[in-house]
Amino acid sequence: MNSMQKYDLIIVGGGILGLSHAYHALLKKKKVLLLEKNSQAMGASIRNFGQIVPSGFSAIWQGYGRSSVKHYLDIASQADIAIRQEGSIYIASDDQEIQLLEELHQINQSNDYPSHLLTAEECISRYPNVTKQYCKAALFFPEEINADSQKTIPALTLFLIKNLGLDVDF
Ligand SMILES: Cc1cc2nc3c(=O)[nH]c(=O)nc-3n(C[C@H](O)[C@H](O)[C@H](O)COP(=O)(O)OP(=O)(O)OC[C@H]3O[C@@H](n4cnc5c(N)ncnc54)[C@H](O)[C@@H]3O)c2cc1C
Repeated sequence: MNSMQKYDLIIVGGGILGLSHAYHALLKKKKVLLLEKNSQAMGASIRNFGQIVPSGFSAIWQGYGRSSVKHYLDIASQADIAIRQEGSIYIASDDQEIQLLEELHQINQSNDYPSHLLTAEECISRYPNVTKQYCKAALFFPEEINADSQKTIPALTLFLIKNLGLDVDF
């Protein structure tokens, strides 16, 4: 960090929210400094974060989630940030849950968000580790992604530094 440098934005905390705010400000050509109290980000984003699944949200939040997936994939096309687009799966274990998955499928179809209903056999053949007796049907969202957060957070930090000019003070 250059002590004479002036910044448009100073962000406290180098977890996924700090990095996301930095990314969007940098895209707008802002000069950004990120302050992280540890020698690398240490919080929830390293311990818990990982599923990037807009299907878990409704309406406006699903829109934000889908736009967020696009940003992750755009960055992943430029640098290895340990993101994988393997889709996500919801498994039903009884008739009531099957009905719920069918409703979720309908809602997402009307939102133009791809999802596929799977029979129990299709689900088990794709995911042999799923318990046969438990799985009665499933709903698969092919566009969803996951992050290996312990790798993604440092890799994303490095991407922002190298490619977009972020300054970080650990
Ligand atoms: C069990 C569990 C599972 C979850 N699974 C998911 C999931 O699958 N997908 C998902 O999207 N979300 C998930 N979440 C939520 C997600 O983990 C959090 O919303 C997200 O990580 C919060 O990010 P953050 O940047 O706000 O905080 P953090 O990741 O906690 O980052 C805060 C950073 O700020 C630093 N800091 C704190 N104070 C200061 C200071 N004074 N000066 C400088 N630095 C400071 C800390 O060292 C830390 O690195 C999950 C949460 C839990 C609890």
